[in-house]
Amino acid sequence: MTTAYLEHFTRLRTDSSRSRWPATTYHRAPHKPLLLLAVMDLIAEGTVSSNLIEITPDLGELFTLYWARVMPPDQRGNLALPFFHLKSDGFWHLIPQPGKKAIVEGSDQIKSVHRLRELVIGARLDEGLYQLLRNKSSREQLRALLIEKYFSPELHSGLMEQGIINLEAYSYSQNLLEQARKQKDSETLSIGQAVRLAARDQGFRRAVVTAYDHRCAICGVRMLTADGHTVVDAAHIKPWSVSFNDNPRNGMALCKLCHWSFDEGMISVSAKYIVVTSPQLSINHNIPGHIITFASRKIIGPKEEKLWPDLDALSWHRQYVFRKR
Ligand SMILES: [Zn+2]
Repeated sequence: MTTAYLEHFTRLRTDSSRSRWPATTYHRAPHKPLLLLAVMDLIAEGTVSSNLIEITPDLGELFTLYWARVMPPDQRGNLALPFFHLKSDGFWHLIPQPGKKAIVEGSDQIKSVHRLRELVIGARLDEGLYQLLRNKSSREQLRALLIEKYFSPELHSGLMEQGIINLEAYSYSQNLLEQARKQKDSETLSIGQAVRLAARDQGFRRAVVTAYDHRCAICGVRMLTADGHTVVDAAHIKPWSVSFNDNPRNGMALCKLCHWSFDEGMISVSAKYIVVTSPQLSINHNIPGHIITFASRKIIGPKEEKLWPDLDALSWHRQYVFRKR
């Protein structure tokens, strides 16, 4: 059976153009093989544990990480494209949302993740292929084939490495969340040292962003782009460089502006989880805009109370980072 899908995977229908796609992808659009690599990672993690691949921020993030390995920064990947177009390859079956079957079947293309989610619940693989992807050795065989077939040799090790990092980052994020749930206070989670830097960053980010459901703790912004990028960062409250602490309770999900303002000490958070703003925001040349309106409001924390920011870390931030005058 593996042979049949090895065959399928070598014949993905992809856009081919010398002007659009680089020599390193053999002048072919890399979307489909990269999406399949991301799907393999989710199955390997166990995040996808039944034969239904949903259009989640996690999938978008993994796809983007692979994309960054093969394409220049000015060319953005769009998850919606391969998610929709893989249906023409025979093993990927879109499951329409109730009442949307006719629209899905009548569409030539769907260009945004948002629209795709309105129309489809997700995709189901051929059952045989799904079983192969659950099995480590056949999954790795199919992974190696995709990488070899669609990418030139200089990209191979980077793509293989990304797969390993993704898995490490996931298990690191799960460890962090699990330990944070068990712990009473601000114990440092020191398992970080054993994990390579990229996996540590990505794992901390994933733990925090998941805990806050992709929402900025200070301003409440939650934005995902059409191609699946999310606006929030995982900010360390007490920086890693001084704390070596990846406990998700030493983190908050913050949008870019709030992250910068927090790191610069223009905003902080009180022991009662109330946002405090620095008097510096109102000095002459500053026009802080809506940022100033968050003062005195409670932060928007994780659903799970145990994952709310650690009070000692916040107190450290108020003492050493916050600009009190
Ligand atoms: Zn924000």
